[in-house]
Amino acid sequence: MLAWPAPTIPHIPGNAPILEIHDTATDRLVNTAAADQANAPASMYVCGITPYDATHMGHAATYVAFDLLQRTWRDAGRAVNYVQNVTDIDDPLLERAAATGVDWVALAEEQTDLFRADMEALNVIPPQEYIGAVESISWLVPLVEKLVAKDLAYLVPGENGEPDGDIYFDSVAASNEAWKLGTVSGYDRETMLGFFSERGGDPQRPGKRDALDPLLWRVARIGEPRWHGASLGEGRPGWHIECSVIARRFLPAPFTVQGGGSDLIFPHHEFSAGHAAALDGKALAESYVHTGMVGLDGEKMSKSLGNLVLVSKLRAAGVEPVAIRTVLLGQHYRSDWFWTDELLAEGQNRVQRWRKRLPTTSLAEATAVISRIRAKLATDLNAPAALAVLDAYAAQEPDTLDGSESEGGILLSEALDALLGLKLG
Ligand code: ZN
Repeated sequence: MLAWPAPTIPHIPGNAPILEIHDTATDRLVNTAAADQANAPASMYVCGITPYDATHMGHAATYVAFDLLQRTWRDAGRAVNYVQNVTDIDDPLLERAAATGVDWVALAEEQTDLFRADMEALNVIPPQEYIGAVESISWLVPLVEKLVAKDLAYLVPGENGEPDGDIYFDSVAASNEAWKLGTVSGYDRETMLGFFSERGGDPQRPGKRDALDPLLWRVARIGEPRWHGASLGEGRPGWHIECSVIARRFLPAPFTVQGGGSDLIFPHHEFSAGHAAALDGKALAESYVHTGMVGLDGEKMSKSLGNLVLVSKLRAAGVEPVAIRTVLLGQHYRSDWFWTDELLAEGQNRVQRWRKRLPTTSLAEATAVISRIRAKLATDLNAPAALAVLDAYAAQEPDTLDGSESEGGILLSEALDALLGLKLG
């Protein structure tokens, strides 16, 4: 599947400090580059959208946060291999298509197009591999068969007149040195059961070996889209195995960072890691990084409440994408926060103030500001502190003019683009 056009990223002189970032699995800051491989390529998988309500601010905040991670790695001289999926077949997508009378394929294509345009506008670097779940089906079928052959997956009989043949992952039998239930999330069983019910799991389904076992293959029901599943029969895959297989196909085992919103910690990232480890005995990723949730004016943002703030709507209303990105960077990526009109107005004002100050920036001043921004980003991508550095600089009287202002303004402008993805020019 095509991603979106890549921006040109300026190279900024000077040294970036080593990045430490919060890992959910260990709940501490980790250095994402071992001392002896500071220049080795970093690899990242970020779970993509299910294309039916793209691109709301929760999506935008997540992809901008991982874009910041990528930019910070690149600034430190590391190449980055980045993979993202699109969950272009899933229950919520089918439900939305049925409810609105739209063909599900057309809905997915239209929403994915919108997402691409929003990402390009927000200056987000595209993944090298952008993979649809549908594309992954033929790759994952033999791997689910392999799990069945190892008795790490099993068939559950149909219920209420539905067909036999759904395949579930045996989360207890699959435990090994690389993964067991809780390795990624650290949650206790009660918390896992709560999130499992809330987020698409089926703890009550009769015939499962453990209530938390997730679906690997859903055998075809009448009227539902289906794909060839070899010995599994016609059907479609569970969500976690898709990401697991896509990540393993294109990235090293383990890869550097698995990313997504905090609502993906369990069950999605827990079981994506479990499936991979059950197949090859290795951890899915070295670190698991999660972004906070974005609400609107004190409420959860959701389609059912009718309060989604969409990037495309703001853009259509004439809001500059760089102001939207400024609002997103103004909140720490791990915080839960609320989008408000006041935040947007403040973001727009900040952009104006920074722009106005750039032409009176000496080379020495630009160099000092860049160094302070790099230091803030190196500690768990502290973008709000980096923006505060910019505010302080913009509020300061310019140095005595020394003739380097044109060069200084250009250097800082390029650095804001390279490091923060803020294109002010
Ligand atoms: Zn995923």
